[in-house]
Order: sequence, then structure tokens, then C-alpha cells
Amino acid sequence: MGKKELSALFSANPDKYYKVALFDKVGFQRHKCIHCGKFFWSLVDRTVCPDHEVYGFLGNPPTSKRLDYIDTWKEVEKFFGSNEHTIINRYPVVCRWRDDLYYTIASIVDFQRVVENKVFFELPANPLVVPQMCVRFNDIENVGLSGRHYTTFCMIGQTCDADAEGGYWKDRCMDLDYQLLTKILGIDPKAITFVEDVWMGAGAFGYSLEYFVNGLELGNAVFTEFEGNENEYQTMKHRIIDMGAGLERFSWITMGTPTSYDCTFGPVINEMMSKTGTMLDKEILGSYFRFVSNALERSEVDLGALKATFVKEMKISFEDLNMIVNPFEAMYTIADHTRTLLFAISDGSIPSNVGGGYNLRVILRRALAILERLGWKFDLAEIADIHIEYLKRMYPELEEHVNDVRTILQIESNRYLGSKERMNSITSSIKGKKQSLSVDDLIRLYESDGITPEFLTESGAIESIPQAFYAKLSELHESHHSSHNLKPITGIEELQPTRMLYYEYDLMTESDAKILAIVENKYVILDQTIFYPRGGGQEPDTGDIEGIKVLDVIKQNDIVIHKVSSSKGLLSGKTVRIRINPRRRDLITKHHTATHIVNASARSILGPWVWQNSAFKDEDYARLDITHHSSLTREEIEGIERAANKVVRQDSPVIINTLDRIDAERNYSFRIYQGGVVPSGTVRIVNIKDWDIEACGGTHVNHTGEIGLIKIFRTERIQDGVVRLEFVAGEAAIDFVEKQDNQLNTISRVLGASKEKVVESVRKSVDEADETKRKLRAIVRKTLPSVMNTIFKDAKVISSDGIKLYSTHDEELDEDYHISLGETVTQNDPSLIFVALIGKGQGVRVITFVGEVARKRIKAGDIAQQLSLTLGGSGGGNAAFGQGGGKFKHKIRETISSLEEMVSQTIGR
Ligand SMILES: [Zn+2]
Ligand SMILES: [Zn+2]
Repeated sequence: MGKKELSALFSANPDKYYKVALFDKVGFQRHKCIHCGKFFWSLVDRTVCPDHEVYGFLGNPPTSKRLDYIDTWKEVEKFFGSNEHTIINRYPVVCRWRDDLYYTIASIVDFQRVVENKVFFELPANPLVVPQMCVRFNDIENVGLSGRHYTTFCMIGQTCDADAEGGYWKDRCMDLDYQLLTKILGIDPKAITFVEDVWMGAGAFGYSLEYFVNGLELGNAVFTEFEGNENEYQTMKHRIIDMGAGLERFSWITMGTPTSYDCTFGPVINEMMSKTGTMLDKEILGSYFRFVSNALERSEVDLGALKATFVKEMKISFEDLNMIVNPFEAMYTIADHTRTLLFAISDGSIPSNVGGGYNLRVILRRALAILERLGWKFDLAEIADIHIEYLKRMYPELEEHVNDVRTILQIESNRYLGSKERMNSITSSIKGKKQSLSVDDLIRLYESDGITPEFLTESGAIESIPQAFYAKLSELHESHHSSHNLKPITGIEELQPTRMLYYEYDLMTESDAKILAIVENKYVILDQTIFYPRGGGQEPDTGDIEGIKVLDVIKQNDIVIHKVSSSKGLLSGKTVRIRINPRRRDLITKHHTATHIVNASARSILGPWVWQNSAFKDEDYARLDITHHSSLTREEIEGIERAANKVVRQDSPVIINTLDRIDAERNYSFRIYQGGVVPSGTVRIVNIKDWDIEACGGTHVNHTGEIGLIKIFRTERIQDGVVRLEFVAGEAAIDFVEKQDNQLNTISRVLGASKEKVVESVRKSVDEADETKRKLRAIVRKTLPSVMNTIFKDAKVISSDGIKLYSTHDEELDEDYHISLGETVTQNDPSLIFVALIGKGQGVRVITFVGEVARKRIKAGDIAQQLSLTLGGSGGGNAAFGQGGGKFKHKIRETISSLEEMVSQTIGR
């Protein structure tokens, strides 16, 4: 059963599912659409559903109030607030609490936690309303053009647990929404239509009433009553009301402007108009966007075709229309994209080529390409500032991130300009081949070379961007399921969960335990264990069970599995002595706690976009990958290390508590999910006082002072948007420093200088070596004329048209010398063939050059190949230069004497 069947099932029983008290009270009647068969409720006699209706509100708003974006929200907030709803702050647009989503795509996502494909609803208040900024990238090509598509929009989320305290069900929900429309916005009840629909989400679904006014869908009240899928479901113990309405649309219906952008972006469009000197042709612009909105509302139509129809109807030229409309499309697009970047960067995401960063980079480069195409001279950071200024009444937190947003936009804009040159050369090669590019080609070019389709259009490599491009790109990067490909061990499902002693007594290194099962003679399951299993980037403990080595430890659900070298003597039911390697545990624990400290240090030094991307904690070192835009400078690395060691010296307590997830999120924000989402109702919170709070299941020290020292020994930008830090802590850090000191001692001995003067001494040696090289080059230059003369004299003419061969065998001067010599002489005499065999240790190197005239008859690469073959090796090259070598040093003479014969044969006498 799909959505359609489900819809039929609900609509077959309207009294049970759709008819709310309001409909009887006010007199809404049920109708069936003569076009599509959908059922809807209205006060007036209607034959068609709003799907076939034009936007009647454009230029003629049906409301008593005119409200801009912010004022619309203030009205909504006031209304629900005075009706016992708690107004909560928006959640981040970067969805850190669900690992199947990068971005918050709907208000209900705030309250959904997915555990093993089962969705749980967790409401911080009941009932509540949230102005949730939502990010969606599936309609990018329509943004700015359609009048109503966005990459970010605000969903007014009216959410309620019907079966918890304070809860209500559909009657009150529709009463409230109806009041909001009629009493607060002053909409004539006759203009309102409720359409019967169905909503299916992750693990739950329900029936819904969409409400429309004058053809515009304003909101959708979903009554989530069932859990499971459409074929197998049951009524939820806690039914959920999920009403979502677009704030942009609420404001639009009260203003009736040609596009919803005109009321959503507040002063941003005006500012851009004055920056660019764009004039407004109200009449044409208004009728064009009315035309587009209505056409798009009816069906998905091609915008190019729409424009063509419009110019015909209006009797204006295509050029004139574009001149009026294009700058506005551009401004709307830039306003939208900048607003999305503003929220995403503020909430800790950055443009990159990985994960959710892809789409941010797409829109950023799209906006930059528009600025460039139109020759507009403002930068996106200025636009972001105007957004902040306007939105701060609703979202005051945006102001905290003014500088962060500025930094990232600046870095990314520079990067875009830098990569354009590269793009140019790739584009001209595409154009040269005259091939047409498929969507897959475009995706590949974007992914591997960062070449945007906008740029390809701009430079004429493609005619237009295929509609499917952005959808496909988003699809590729929408979800990021983590996959663990470990084969599960079967036959242990019935066993009791292992008691994890390592959490209860973190210093326990020996214990007794009872064997519950042995699987495949190598996996031992105990009733309790002190062995920490691999997890959260932390390597497992090693040790023994009754003297038998434990090689690996893993956790499967609640059961810890010990992989042993043999199961000899181990019997199910037997009590055994288990021991872990205490030194290993101690070092791993220090490295693990140090990872928390370094992560927070990096965030404090670099910026709020720093998140743990992944981590690995072993005995001898730890590795932390963070999200950051550039390679680290020496100062940044030192800053991070210094901040981390300060926390170590402060000897701060590390406090571990288990909390309800909902409380942990509320108290500490989603920053706790550095290591990813925790799929359970309770979370273990590791709190390094005044420094870092994370949800973590690993082993930690009790006070940071135990770590002793943290030393970062390497950093590397491992991919676009991810920087790796490798460091040592505790005894491993002491060992590291000692080793470095030893190396320094050795260097000082070799140089014959004291440790304090090593740097000075190395610098002097380097200078001296440079000087020697300089002298050598000068000697070569000075002696070259006489050497050349000798060569020209000694060269043997081997053909009637004057081609000459010179060969030499040298045991003293190296390849570099012969390469510069060969190059110079063949440049001076284009008929010359130059061959040098250079003795090198146990082998021979071959260097060949052929002058421009001689090149027509024989290639330097071929000579090198032949000679190398004779010498028991291999070689090659191009027409002018060849090289190779072999190991038969004793064949040098033989090779030289055969050379003339070989060359002569090739060129023909
Ligand atoms: Zn219809
Ligand atoms: Zn931890």
C-alpha cells in the first residue's frame, strides 16, 4: 500500500479521520474535486480543489493586516503564546541529532530521534510552537525564479503530544489554526479550504488537513496516529500533532506582493537595488511574476517556455523582459543563498566538498557566479549583515556570528577566484573536443575539479544547466549513513547483556567472570567484563582470560565479545580469571581524554565550525579529524597545544553522569554529539569542567592533570574541509619529547656543535652547500665553450647530410652535468646526436639528446631505450631527450662500439 491507497483508506471514512468539530460548528461541507478526485472542505460550494486555482491574493491580499516577515512571526508567537503554547527557540539548521540527515528539513525533525529505524518523538514542552528554519536543497534551480522556492524557509511548527499533559488532538488544533487565520490575520472564512491528505514520515504516519487560502497552501496539520509502515502499523501510545506552516507564505498572503521574496527578505532587496542601481518596473515585473506563480502552481512547467508565452501575451521583446526581470531574479537568488549560508555557518557548518558542505558550496559559488556575470561589486558578507540586522528581532543569536560568517565567506570567495583559472583551462579543453556533457559528466567535474555548471554556462561550454543537476547532486549528498561492515556474530542474541565493569570501576585490572558462551572456538562471552570493547574511536583493551591472549574486543548490542587466540581449556559455565594490560588501558585513557581537550582547544582557537569529524585513540598516539576550512598555521597549532596544556595544568575534574537524552540536549546543546548521535534514551555525559562537554562511552581520567602533557606532532589537511591533528599524551608525550631530544643530540654530535648552536650550525652548513653548488655551476659555465669545441671536433659525421654522433663515458661527473651539457650542445648544433654513459655505483646511467635536424631521423628516447636494453635495464623518452640505465657495467665498451652501427642503421646512410 502506498500513499495513494492510504489516502483512499482515510478518505473512505471521513467522519473518523477528517471531520473535526470546527467543520460542524462553522458549517464546512465536504466536496470532491471534479478534476483530481481529492476531497476537501469548504464553506462555499466549490467543484475543484485549490490545486487548480490561481493565486487570487496577488495584488489583492485577503487579510485585514499587512505584515512583514518579522511582524507576521510576532503575531503568530503572541497568538499561540496566549493559548497555552510554549514558544521555543529554533533548533540548529545543521541536524546533529539525526545521522540520516545533514540539515533540519522540517520543524518536526527537531523532536524526532531515530533509534534502529524506529522514530521517537521528544517534545521539550507541550504544546509548543517553534519558528524552525529549515534547509532544503532539492529545488535549487527554481529558487529566485519561481517567486516562492527557497533553500531556507521558516516553518512555524505547532507541535503537540496529544496523550501527554497539556496535549490536545485534532479538534483543538484546527480550532486554533482557524482562529489564527480568521481572527489574527483577518481572512474571510469563505476563502479557506481544507484538503484531505496523508503524510508519511520515518517510522510513523498519519492523515492530514492542508489549508489553502486563495490558491496558496499556507499550512498542513498532520495527525500522526500510527507507527510502523503502511502495511503493518499500530496506533501510537502518544499521538503527535505536527502542524507546519510557512512563515514566508503567511507574510505573503497578507502583502500580496508579486513574489514572496519581496516580503521575506525585508530590506535586503532594497539595499541591493540601491547598490546596483537597479530600477523597478513595477507593472511588468508584477505581471510577470504573477504569471509565473500561477503557472507553476498549476504544474511544473519549464521557465524558459513560460517566458516565451509571456512576451507574446504582453507584446514586449524577450530582451526587454530579461532586462527588467533578470536583475530581480539575481537579487532574489543571492538573498536566499546568503541567508542559507548565514544560518548554516552560524550553526557550525562550512562549505566544503564533503557531507552537507557540498550544497553550501554549490549555493555560494552560484551566488558568486551571478555577482560576476552581472558585474556587481558588493560582497556576500555585506548582504549577510543586512539579513542579520533584519532578522535579529526573531533570531538574536545570529549577531554573535557576524565575524565567523564574514571569515568563511571571505575564504570561500577567494578560493573560488583562485580555482577559476584552473576551470578555464578545463573548459577550453571541453570546448575543443566539441562534446556535449551529460548530467553525470557535470557531477564528476563538480566533484573532482570543483567546476560549477554555472561556470560552464558562463564560458559557453554548455548551453544551460540541466534541471536534474542540483537534484542529483543533493541526492548524492543528502544522507550520510555510517556503515559498519563487521559481520555480526550469530547465536548470542539470547544471552544476557554483559555487565560492563569498566564503567563501574575504571581502575580495575583483574577480575573473575563466568563464561556464558564460546562461539566458533574464538569468541568468548562473559557475564561481566573489564575489557573495554572497540568503540567511539577508542581501541580495545588487550590482556588474557585464564592466560589465553585476548586479541580483540568488540561490542554487539549489549554484549561484549572477546576474541581469543584459542579456546583451549575454556568451558561454558566455568568461572575464569580475566586480566587487562593496565599500561595500555592507562595510555589509551589519557589519549582519549586528551582528544576531548584538543577538540575544544581547536574550537576555541579556530572557530565555531570546528567539530570532531572522526577520532582514533590508541596506546602510542591519538588522531583527531576536525572540520576546518584551511591548513593550520604554526601559530594556530601552537595556540591549540598551549590551550590544551593549560587545561591539563589546571587539573580540572572530569565528571561523568548519565542523563536523559532530552535533558542532556537541553542543558548542553547539540555540541555533545561530537562523536555522532547516541542511539539511546539516556546518554553518558563526560564533562571536563569549564572546557568541554560531550556524550561519550569511552574511558577517561578523573582529573586532567593525570594526562601530564599533550604534544601535537603532526597536522595535515586531509581533504577539503577536514584537518587532521595527531598528538601524544601522558607517558607517550614524554617518550616523544625524549626521542626528539635524542635526535637533537645526534645532530649536534654529527655537526660538532653544541645543542644550543645546532640551528646556527645547520644554517651555516646549508649556506656552504649552496655556495659550493653555485661555484660548480660557474665552473661549468666558464669551461663549457672549450668543452663544446672539443665535442664538435670529436663528433663523427655518420650521414651524407651531415648528421653527427658524439658519445662519451664518464665516471666522475654526474647526470646533472651531462644533462645541461647535452642540452646546450644539441641546441648549438641541431645536427648533433649526444650520448653519455655515466658510471653510477654498480650500474650505468644513459643520457641522450638529439638536435632539431637530426630528430627528424632518430629519436633520443629510442636510442636511450636500445642502449639501456643492451646494458640490462630499460629506458625511454621523447624525440629530443632520452634517459635510462642498466646494471651491466662491464658492457659499457661493447655498448659504445655498437652505438654507431645502431644509429647509422636507423637513419640510413
Ligand atoms: Zn483537484
Ligand atoms: Zn570520551
